[in-house]
Amino acid sequence: MWFREDLRLGDNPALNTAFESGAPVICLYILETVKDGSRPLGGASKWWLHQSLSALAEAIEALGGQFVLRKGAAQDCLLNLVEELNATAVFWNRRYDAGGISVDSAIKTALKTAGVEGISANGRLLTEPWQVRTGAGAYYKVFTPYWKSVRANYRAPPPLPKPDYIGDFGLPSDTLDTWNLLPQKPDWAVLFPQHWEPGETGAHARLERWLDGAIDSYSDQRNRPDVEGSTSGLSPHLRWGEISPVQVWRAVHSRIGSVAGSSAEDSAWTFLSEIVWREFSYVLLYHNPRLADVNYNIDFQHMPWRDNSADYERWCEGQTGYPIVDAGMRELWHTGWMHNRVRMIVGSFLTKHLLLPWQMGEDWFWDTLVDADPASNAASWQWVAGSGADAAPYFRVFNPITQGSKFDETGAYVRRWCPELEALPDKYLHSPWDAPGPVLRNAGIALGETYPHPMVDHKTGRQRALDAYDTLKERRAAI
Ligand code: FAD
Repeated sequence: MWFREDLRLGDNPALNTAFESGAPVICLYILETVKDGSRPLGGASKWWLHQSLSALAEAIEALGGQFVLRKGAAQDCLLNLVEELNATAVFWNRRYDAGGISVDSAIKTALKTAGVEGISANGRLLTEPWQVRTGAGAYYKVFTPYWKSVRANYRAPPPLPKPDYIGDFGLPSDTLDTWNLLPQKPDWAVLFPQHWEPGETGAHARLERWLDGAIDSYSDQRNRPDVEGSTSGLSPHLRWGEISPVQVWRAVHSRIGSVAGSSAEDSAWTFLSEIVWREFSYVLLYHNPRLADVNYNIDFQHMPWRDNSADYERWCEGQTGYPIVDAGMRELWHTGWMHNRVRMIVGSFLTKHLLLPWQMGEDWFWDTLVDADPASNAASWQWVAGSGADAAPYFRVFNPITQGSKFDETGAYVRRWCPELEALPDKYLHSPWDAPGPVLRNAGIALGETYPHPMVDHKTGRQRALDAYDTLKERRAAI
């Protein structure tokens, strides 16, 4: 059983098929060093992967087994192992990024040539990205009808059992520590363990906590970064397959009957629709393999983006002078995660106020998010920038001041991540430059010294973005 982005023992279709074969099962993970066309993992993803592999190894050992770790080109590692063991089949759950698909198809062919079966399953999505189709037979490019179709037709399959015994064949294996997945000098992930418990147990604990009440207010609270636990925090667990969307769907759906007709029912469906945004992102990625770097709407290839690395760095570091943007970027750095509403605000700020290409933001998120996902990150960045399928229109420029006051209503979010603004009265928290001198002095703030001046005036930045967008419209009209 070749584990990849499905780091769990429970309800794992490929693992279950492997055990059903009746043959002894070896559990394997390969740190792939050669993956043509695949993107190297970002730093925060590597941190998560280390922890998650360690948790899975422990779970396998608790059942008597050994988790075999190998490093190299997947095809070489697999063929070597197949030969060492005289294995008859290799099992895995599918992945959907172009690089992964091409590696896996080559492996399937190589295994076949060697007389070994390569058996793949869906352990990552509710439905395969090629399954749900419009009446005309095309893939969905608009979310709402896609969601309606999934909501009406999807039925979760019954859960698959977790193995109760795994064999240990004493095979040669790397040790996790030698893979150097954890950051050193500096250890920027030092606070991550306060926020996360990677692994299958941590994933289920989080789901349980979520179902224990917070989910019932999801419709009202999900846009509130200042409210602790306003969203589930399941994204990195889903990213690494420590829990599957099928398991989440089953757990949430089974509650719906007991809360029928109440606002909790509405919240449950809204939450499931977000799980389906993840599916929709996979549909887009599967049908647009270069979603992470090529504009879905090709008009955007002519967007007159700016080229300014100093502005980009200020954005990455959370030093833009807009408190809600800075709070988000600092939350990301310290925890490896950012609230969805704030992801939209910082994304809009980068692509509109700073007029920097969305790919730069996608790249930073790829490196710093513990949930950095090949489909959701790419699709969401294109959505924010206006270049994506079913995207927010480019001319919708989020105002970081009003977004801040509306969604960080209590100011707790900005105060937490920008402590230098803590003593500022609520009225000025999202626009410190509006505060009179004595108010700033009383709060211990010297703009330009303890907290930056805004790097671009909101109105000026907004107009510059709209003017840039107009050039696209003019170009299109001229064709
Ligand atoms: P909840 O609100 O509790 O939602 C439950 C689950 O639904 C999430 O765990 C996630 O798997 C899925 N989900 C929710 N919203 C979305 C969405 N808009 N698109 C796709 N799936 C969604 N999500 C990632 O998982 N990985 C990414 O790399 C990623 N990059 C993003 C980049 C930008 C610019 C934006 C605007 C959004 C991005 N998202 C990404 C989507 C979303 O922000 C996160 O999934 C969400 O914040 C995770 O927190 P949660 O688990 O508490 O979400």
